[in-house]
Amino acid sequence: MSPLLPADSPLSRRLLLGGGGAATLAAVGTGLLPTAADARQPDGRQGRLPRKVDVVVVGAGLSGLVAADQLARRGVDVLCVEARGRVGGRVLNHHLDAGGTIEAGGAFIGPTQDHIAALAKRLGVRTFLQYNEGRSVYISSMTGRQEYSGTVPPDPTILPDAAVLLTRIDSMAAEIDVSAPWSHPDARAWDAMSLGEFIRRNAVNAQGIGNLIKSWTQPGFGADPDELSLLFVLWYVASGGNETTAGTFARSSDTSGGAQESRFVGGSQLVPIRLARRLGDVVALKAAVRRIEQRDGRVLVHTRRGTVRARRVIVAAPPPLVLDMDWDPQLPTDRRQLLRHMDMGQLMKCDAIYDKPFWREDGLNGFGINDAGAARAVFDNSPPTGDPGVLLAFVGGGTWREYGPMRRRDRREAVLRGFADMFGDRALKPVEYTEQDWTQERWTRGGPTAVHAPGTLVDFGPAIRRPFGRVHWAGTETSTYWSGYMDGAVRAGERAALEVRDVL
Ligand SMILES: Cc1cc2nc3c(=O)[nH]c(=O)nc-3n(C[C@H](O)[C@H](O)[C@H](O)COP(=O)(O)OP(=O)(O)OC[C@H]3O[C@@H](n4cnc5c(N)ncnc54)[C@H](O)[C@@H]3O)c2cc1C
Repeated sequence: MSPLLPADSPLSRRLLLGGGGAATLAAVGTGLLPTAADARQPDGRQGRLPRKVDVVVVGAGLSGLVAADQLARRGVDVLCVEARGRVGGRVLNHHLDAGGTIEAGGAFIGPTQDHIAALAKRLGVRTFLQYNEGRSVYISSMTGRQEYSGTVPPDPTILPDAAVLLTRIDSMAAEIDVSAPWSHPDARAWDAMSLGEFIRRNAVNAQGIGNLIKSWTQPGFGADPDELSLLFVLWYVASGGNETTAGTFARSSDTSGGAQESRFVGGSQLVPIRLARRLGDVVALKAAVRRIEQRDGRVLVHTRRGTVRARRVIVAAPPPLVLDMDWDPQLPTDRRQLLRHMDMGQLMKCDAIYDKPFWREDGLNGFGINDAGAARAVFDNSPPTGDPGVLLAFVGGGTWREYGPMRRRDRREAVLRGFADMFGDRALKPVEYTEQDWTQERWTRGGPTAVHAPGTLVDFGPAIRRPFGRVHWAGTETSTYWSGYMDGAVRAGERAALEVRDVL
């Protein structure tokens, strides 16, 4: 049975047996929906691992799979070893009892994320626009509940600060070299300061605007403004663009025209699943890497399923997981220090499922922010058909620390209460509730990305992409554009593959 999609799941049954009716089958035929093949786990090499290949890629998340694919397509003998029994890493589909698929991890894609868009297109995975018609909801302890249009809530106590601070963040970010943020003349001063401190120094109502910005940092980093280096945040904003379009705060925070503009039909995990299927035997599941040894011009990769010898290795695992491996010789000091200072954010996704997206009937788009409670950043997470209706709360950073350790029942109640405060009491009675806590994932440890606390990026950042002997680095955290996102993962995999091809 596939851990990607159990054969007895409603979706699988519908696709395989045609139980979804003519409309479903017609949609499958046009590639709009996942095909029956998508319901099966990519075959992956489950027998004995080869003793020798040209390149081993560690990790079958988007980044590792892309690196392996780029090399395989150039005729390189490559093996991608993955710890889990599935591919996709931080990209994971969840199949609802009520039918339809949502994402438990990475989901949204937006303008300038050209590399993930091109990959999805090549694999026949389509996108749909995130539902964005009608008004959003803003709840503040100071001003109460308001409905609003546009991107910034019309709260008179924070509007002046928002105008000044967001413009400042954009203009500072515009000066950052995305490939070397530590080279900015003010880098050390900006790195010494947290985003929270920057807000306190520059805002009139620091608490008000700080709360608003928190509703961006908690889902976006899994962290609060006080935990983030200002330089790191400026670099993150700058990296939210491409070679011709500068990154801006709005592009990373907005739905329309921003990073939350679209989602993938059938769920984002279709991208790694289809890529892995194409790679076939190149991907070996349940092969966690324990030790990497470099000697005599070769690399020995010791996995749970045996040892493979390679000329080069690309490591595409999240930073804390790289530190867990036993390295011989040991990692260079600057790389070790860098990894030690790149902890994962704390984030979970909580979804409530309803017969229909009832908030739409009230002219609401399902987006909401609240400066208190468990549901501080909320999105309409319904499948493209709007059937069923799904509300999603990102529970991250300080909110995760408050609600993450609770009993599931209590957290569910708090999340539903938050939905009800935004969209009315119908939100208290979902037909289904599901949650995914990434801090509990053995092979990820948190999300959505690794973050830099103050005082770590300038000193240790320059080691980020520097190869260590015959070992090269991929993973979204090593990308210059859209680091932390699916697009960054794809870009990093492509860059690492080119690096290795040039030296093979
Ligand atoms: C809740 C959440 C929401 C997100 N939302 C978005 C979003 O809306 N849009 C967006 O673009 N991005 C989003 N992201 C981020 C996005 O998912 C990631 O940036 C991206 O998927 C990272 O890909 P990766 O290949 O670099 O790393 P990963 O996906 O983490 O892949 C690394 C792989 O390495 C494997 N591994 C680890 N250790 C070992 C080992 N020792 N041996 C072998 N294999 C190992 C892991 O199992 C994993 O499969 C979100 C992430 C989360 C968690």
